[in-house]
Amino acid sequence: MSQTMQRYIDEAEQALLHTYNRYQVVFERGEGVHLYDMDGKKYLDFVSGIAVFALGYQNREYNDALKEQIDKIIHTSNYYYNIPAIEAAKSLKRISGMDRVFFTNSGAEAVEGAIKTARKYGFLKDGRTDHEIIAMEHSFHGRTMGALSVTGNRHYREPFEPMIGNIRFAQLNDLESVKEQITDKTCAILFETVQGEGGLYPATEEFMRGIRALCDERDILMILDEIQCGMGRTGEMFAWQRYGVKPDVMTTAKALGCGVPVGAFLMTEKVGAHSLTAGDHGTTYGGNPLACAAVCKVIELFEKENVLENVRTVGAYLEQCLDSVAADYGCVLTRRGAGLMQGLVFDRPVGDIISAAMDKGLVLINAGADIIRFVPPLVITKDHVDEMVDILRRSIDEVCGGKNG
Ligand SMILES: *Cc1c(COP(=O)(O)O)cnc(C)c1O
Repeated sequence: MSQTMQRYIDEAEQALLHTYNRYQVVFERGEGVHLYDMDGKKYLDFVSGIAVFALGYQNREYNDALKEQIDKIIHTSNYYYNIPAIEAAKSLKRISGMDRVFFTNSGAEAVEGAIKTARKYGFLKDGRTDHEIIAMEHSFHGRTMGALSVTGNRHYREPFEPMIGNIRFAQLNDLESVKEQITDKTCAILFETVQGEGGLYPATEEFMRGIRALCDERDILMILDEIQCGMGRTGEMFAWQRYGVKPDVMTTAKALGCGVPVGAFLMTEKVGAHSLTAGDHGTTYGGNPLACAAVCKVIELFEKENVLENVRTVGAYLEQCLDSVAADYGCVLTRRGAGLMQGLVFDRPVGDIISAAMDKGLVLINAGADIIRFVPPLVITKDHVDEMVDILRRSIDEVCGGKNG
């Protein structure tokens, strides 16, 4: 590593709060599906900023749209209308089939909004102020207090207790475990359609349909967190769209703005008419013209560049390649995931394998200690997958000691 890059890393360690154990690299620019560090070293990117930069870096049309918007106006206020927010909301409605949109600045904030929506919906229904939400073990919904409260990872929650109250946990894909947690106070059931950080577990169709039926029966809101698995990642615009059931409320973020910080929570007309009203919720930045110009262009480019079709084709190929890696190595237990959101589960911590891959010019990320997660830009090709698998195999050879190791 050059002295200049090392100096920046040292300075970062002096200035930034130590909330991350960072890889020893400073990325300076991106081009397509590649990143370049300060020393000019090129990396194939299979992380895309954790499922964010779906269109790849330096998409000309995307960059131009942002530049154009900057020269018009970057921010107004939600007390006024702005054109990009209106267009972005229309586009989001069209691709999701939902009816009402609230723009946020992050995923966690979208989850906060969904929680408030559920509590207000319950409150208007029966006047109670002790409603409960059922969330799932191994889930991840963000780091703010509300989002953390519904995150099914005790280690993340414990130092910050007390959480917001009245959250119960069940198991994804275990309908009975959900039924056991239902009381007359339950106002919502919340889960990721495909669990991301928690280990790349897709919801089963049976579970999705079961939850939908349960929610309909009891007038409970079904809330799907599509922050990581949405925006094309599994080959549908939103992962729930392949199950034939529709949520009452959903969250999105990550790839929604492809790098510009923006999220949203969406709901059906029925929920919109019986939950948050004027004065109930707000944000200074949320839905500002710059963020929404990004959303508009991202959705337009997804359609123009047939991103979903690419995810289906290349996702299937990635699955097949990772399955053969899993078959070849004793230290790989299994593969899980959907589309271009895949995980390889190892019998050991994966940090050394990821570091070995970094040395060889491949960026990977973990999900939990023992899983390597693959969330590349959605515009990658089969050739990129081949290149990735070649480096991955050599990295596993190095750390696990060859095939059958
Ligand atoms: C990343 C993520 C969040 C949190 O989003 P932030 O923008 O980091 O606040 C919430 N839910 C899921 C499923 C995520 O993957």
